[in-house]
Amino acid sequence: KTNLMWFRQDLRTFDNTAFAACCEHARQNHAGVIAVVYLTPKQWQSHRKSLWQIDLILRQIRALEQSLSQLNIGIIVRVVDDFALQATDVLELCQQLSISHLFANLEYPVNELARDQYIAQQAQSLGIVTQWFDDSQVVAPQRIVTDKGMPYKVFTPFYKRWLAMIETAGLTLSPTPAAMAINTTQLAKDSRNTNDYITIDAFYRAYLTPTAALEKQLNHVGKLAQLLYPADEAAAQSRLDDFLKKHIADYNIARDVPALNNHLGATSRLSPYLAIGMLSPRLCYLKARQKLNSQQGLGSEKDIMRWISELAWRDFYYDVMVNRPDIVKGKAFLTPLDESVAWRYDLADFESWYQGKTGVPLVDAAMRCLNSTGFMHNRLRMVVAMYLSKNLLIDWRWGEAYFMQHLVDGDFASNNGGWQWSASVGTDAQPYFRVMNPFSQAATHDPDASYIQYWVPELATVPANIINNEQKLQTYLTQHPHIAYPTLATPTKISRAMAIDAFKKTS
Ligand code: FAD
Repeated sequence: KTNLMWFRQDLRTFDNTAFAACCEHARQNHAGVIAVVYLTPKQWQSHRKSLWQIDLILRQIRALEQSLSQLNIGIIVRVVDDFALQATDVLELCQQLSISHLFANLEYPVNELARDQYIAQQAQSLGIVTQWFDDSQVVAPQRIVTDKGMPYKVFTPFYKRWLAMIETAGLTLSPTPAAMAINTTQLAKDSRNTNDYITIDAFYRAYLTPTAALEKQLNHVGKLAQLLYPADEAAAQSRLDDFLKKHIADYNIARDVPALNNHLGATSRLSPYLAIGMLSPRLCYLKARQKLNSQQGLGSEKDIMRWISELAWRDFYYDVMVNRPDIVKGKAFLTPLDESVAWRYDLADFESWYQGKTGVPLVDAAMRCLNSTGFMHNRLRMVVAMYLSKNLLIDWRWGEAYFMQHLVDGDFASNNGGWQWSASVGTDAQPYFRVMNPFSQAATHDPDASYIQYWVPELATVPANIINNEQKLQTYLTQHPHIAYPTLATPTKISRAMAIDAFKKTS
């Protein structure tokens, strides 16, 4: 007798709800546990998964294989093009291995839910029991509702209820299961259909449709990914511990200074791990809460609660996605408003934005950082998203897609939520007339321009008070033509007014 654990966006053994249930069920029934993980290159490419994230997934699968082998559990790695083939393949696998029970954590985007529903139906007709679990959030989608049972459209009341629900119901973690009596590691090795996942390079060459942009990204990934985003659960947990020890105490202020910590920022940088499920969000919540309890009265309550509220934003956007599945199909939360804005589709402007050559130093620095590291600081995500969707009035979907293709932490719900918020077409979004000025943002959050100068070396000799002042910078660049940095074709004051006008015309 064997149970199958299907790992998806939950590549960990600690506090993995389905995995804990799978092992417990097997133990009670004297069964073995075998695991499977699918690489779906065509699906990933159509979902614009970045090479940074694919690389992290591949490295984490290898780390997971090690941890699982300590538990006498083998992991089958299968490559199939897409979700449709995945469904057929997993059912065939269940039959080949005489699986009686299939366990998995739910994935909430529409196509994934439809795939799982199909699998559940087919499995039932084959006599296989399937069990699905909520796991990827602190509080699962659709649990937090208004008094009238409706989904929340605004974050703050959602957050209050989220906190209250955790307080009342409590959170329990599922520890890593003990080793199983039956060893399935050899059986798993025999059931693989590939070894082309060993490195991102091999995977890329074997399965992805190459493009010049991807080749460039591959080069950066090869140089930096292991260093910036080390794999294995222990690495993720130690990053959490390190953040709680060193940085959370002044998070409320330091979170907005991207130059801190060697230009990586003083936030946790746990998002890549949360995105692929290498780390439990409940563990993050509970450890932060423990820290709060142990420091009561020491003045860091605001900082810790602020960080906890960011975990709630993550849950909020999942809740929005599940309640409004049309957003997965490119619709905005505020559909009529979005559809009446005359979005621009100007390739040259878009190119200057993504290449970091707009002439707005903070925007350019942030985009270059994204292109070279797969990561961008949260405040800068808002700044560049607003610059694209407001000052340039380019359809936010272009920016959303570009982010997915380049972020190591690309996550549909958070990315879509962040873009719709910035473009003023989302739930609880910025009002359209509130457009961040990227120069004042730089003056406030990068006052000595050290972040900008790190990523935009052309400006290394320009004084900070000039870099962060739009008019002074234009004059300076005209007087110093040897500096190879573009002047602004349209001042931000004017592009801002044009954007506001475009939104006004819709009402
Ligand atoms: P911390 O400040 O340490 O926060 C802890 C965790 O809380 C994060 O790891 C993340 O999981 C969650 N979190 C923090 N801020 C947000 C937020 N605004 N929305 C949702 N969750 C949040 N986050 C992603 O994980 N993937 C994305 O694809 C993504 N795209 C974004 C696009 C735009 C336009 C914007 C404005 C934001 C986006 N975010 C996204 C949210 C946020 O920028 C990142 O989660 C954050 O920068 C990650 O850094 P960190 O782990 O150091 O965060």
